[in-house]
Amino acid sequence: MTNRPDVLVVGAGPTGLTTALQAHDHGATVRVVERRPEAFRPSRAMIMHPRTLESLRPLGVTDRLLDRADRAPLAELHIGRRQVLAQLGEVGLHDTAFPHLTLLPQAYVEEVLADALAHRGVRIERGVEVVDASADDDAAHATLRSADRVEETACRFLAGCDGPASAVRTEAGIAWRGAGYTEEVVLADLELDGHLAPGVLHVGVGRAGLVFLFALGECATWRLLATRPAHDDGGAFGQPGAEVPVADVQDVLDATALDVTVGELRWSARVRLQHRLADTFRRGRLFLAGDAAHAHSPRRGAGHERRDPGRREPGVEAGLRRSERPVQRPAGLLRRGAPTGGAPGARPDSPGVLRRGVGEPAVGVPAGHAAAPGRSCPAGARAPTAADGPGGPAAVPGMGALPQQPAVGHRHPARRRATPG
Ligand SMILES: Cc1cc2nc3c(=O)[nH]c(=O)nc-3n(C[C@H](O)[C@H](O)[C@H](O)COP(=O)(O)OP(=O)(O)OC[C@H]3O[C@@H](n4cnc5c(N)ncnc54)[C@H](O)[C@@H]3O)c2cc1C
Repeated sequence: MTNRPDVLVVGAGPTGLTTALQAHDHGATVRVVERRPEAFRPSRAMIMHPRTLESLRPLGVTDRLLDRADRAPLAELHIGRRQVLAQLGEVGLHDTAFPHLTLLPQAYVEEVLADALAHRGVRIERGVEVVDASADDDAAHATLRSADRVEETACRFLAGCDGPASAVRTEAGIAWRGAGYTEEVVLADLELDGHLAPGVLHVGVGRAGLVFLFALGECATWRLLATRPAHDDGGAFGQPGAEVPVADVQDVLDATALDVTVGELRWSARVRLQHRLADTFRRGRLFLAGDAAHAHSPRRGAGHERRDPGRREPGVEAGLRRSERPVQRPAGLLRRGAPTGGAPGARPDSPGVLRRGVGEPAVGVPAGHAAAPGRSCPAGARAPTAADGPGGPAAVPGMGALPQQPAVGHRHPARRRATPG
């Protein structure tokens, strides 16, 4: 692309895709670059919260997301010798069009968002990495590196949606304060021997915490998610890292009342967790959003440590909600034709200040790693595609016939094209 875009979005995770969609719908010309040659697989997030759906609603994607989601998951709690069945439907929120728990792998969410971008004529340039970023009064500048070329480019605003090891944050000189947690996540896609009701979310209550078995594995029938004390191996925070040995996965299961053994471990990863917050979410024409701006444990984010369910702050949700401001502010500037990085009368870094207030309680803050390459499922297994339906390629029977909610209406905002600067 030779024309200078209004917004260069760095990173095609959920935050970058949403930022690009929002910017486009506000009338901006958008370019999206993503370092990975392929979409990130397998998924990290499995749960989509009401506020996430609210943020996505104006983009016209919620119907498609909900069509693929399990909106009334049946859960079996394993507490000692007792098993308790629970229908996890309503989450007790009265001020939302989406008052239900929604199970939906992150990979599907990204696929739907990427399709929506393609529908608007915006292509994701994969295999293109931002290695340098800066800004002056007239433009933001970036150096883009791909397999066969290095490109110097300029744009009006640059949105760093490049995850917890954000290069944009580093290049902007924005501090990243916080620390690692003493616990880490174990993720695994596996087949299990023993009696487990199919198509049900199993929750084992263990000595060290909860073990979740989602019937939504992307490389096998079951996706295990559990926490355990952290092993500090220097791996990247927030990214699927080293494999977890079968014996360790079995230990995690044995610490609960789940009476199952690992039949086949198809994929596993440990994920180091951190709580960190960027000092500001904007420096001039450079913006930060999503995990590039704030990171915390998905357990904390999912509301387990909060009393008010209406204020839950899961990672995807927090990223998407905070991505609204970095987009709306440049869009406002574009419409007003403001020549510099600040709207008339606005404080220079006010967007960052405004949105940081949303993230601080969840992060609880009182610095950079190279992200691990994306993992794909091992040979014989594959990542899900749209054709696979909600359960993915290895879905258990029953998950395909999902309860349907009444369709939720949405409309596209009026499109206003701005003249690129
Ligand atoms: C184990 C686990 C479970 C979770 N469960 C949930 C859940 O149930 N619900 C929920 O809402 N959230 C959950 N989260 C959090 C959620 O996964 C993240 O908050 C979310 O992925 C953040 O999205 P993002 O787009 O900001 O960053 P990312 O998803 O990290 O995307 C950043 C993108 O930027 C690209 N990139 C990086 N550097 C560059 C560069 N220099 N140039 C170009 N591209 C670059 C990367 O390749 C990547 O694709 C969970 C997280 C973990 C670790």
